[in-house]
Amino acid sequence: MSISENLLSIKTTLPSLVTLVAVSKTKPVSDLMQAYEAGQRVFGENKIQEMTEKWEQMPKDIQWHMIGHIQSNKVKYMAPYVSLIHGVDSLKLLEEINKQAQKNNRVIDCLLQLHIAEEETKFGLNEEELNELLQSDIFKNLRNIKIVGLMGMATFTENQTQIKKEFQHLKAIFDTFKIQNSSFNILSMGMSGDYQLAIECGSTMVRIGSSIFGTR
Ligand SMILES: *Cc1c(COP(=O)(O)O)cnc(C)c1O
Repeated sequence: MSISENLLSIKTTLPSLVTLVAVSKTKPVSDLMQAYEAGQRVFGENKIQEMTEKWEQMPKDIQWHMIGHIQSNKVKYMAPYVSLIHGVDSLKLLEEINKQAQKNNRVIDCLLQLHIAEEETKFGLNEEELNELLQSDIFKNLRNIKIVGLMGMATFTENQTQIKKEFQHLKAIFDTFKIQNSSFNILSMGMSGDYQLAIECGSTMVRIGSSIFGTR
């Protein structure tokens, strides 16, 4: 199937309130343009430099999401245009995003990444660290970032029961913090292999790459 066929067949299975981020990392602009022409306007990349090159070449009504781990010294390159940063997991990084957003006269939307998987390699905060961050005075004084929700990745496993448990855990944390943070409205969880399960568990934003663009 073609990229546009893949995209449209996934879209028909998504509830209307779930946003599809087309994860286009490593793929050429020509592939992204096929998705664009099929109506896709939200793209996710995991390297700032690659995303910036694509942003320069592509139509300006695209929303670019940074979904990868972020190096502080590169935030300045995406600050003029990035629409949502998914993987924020430290106050230090938030301060840098705030600083670069301020230089660009913008407020940049961010998701805080929670560590829900078993693997130790995955980035993210635990619930206690999340609470500390949101309570800190430094955070409360950042005027050019806005935390609009949470993001998480489940363990890379075939075990559906475990994945489901991890997604439910993240959803429970999201619901708890949403009570005190009215700007929390995005829960980013689910990729090609597990997005249906993620949606069952309350995801509002799925990040899908290989099921649209093919294997990387
Ligand atoms: C690559 C990536 C995805 C997409 O993965 P697929 O399995 O290709 O759908 C989603 N989220 C993050 C954070 C990624 O790095």
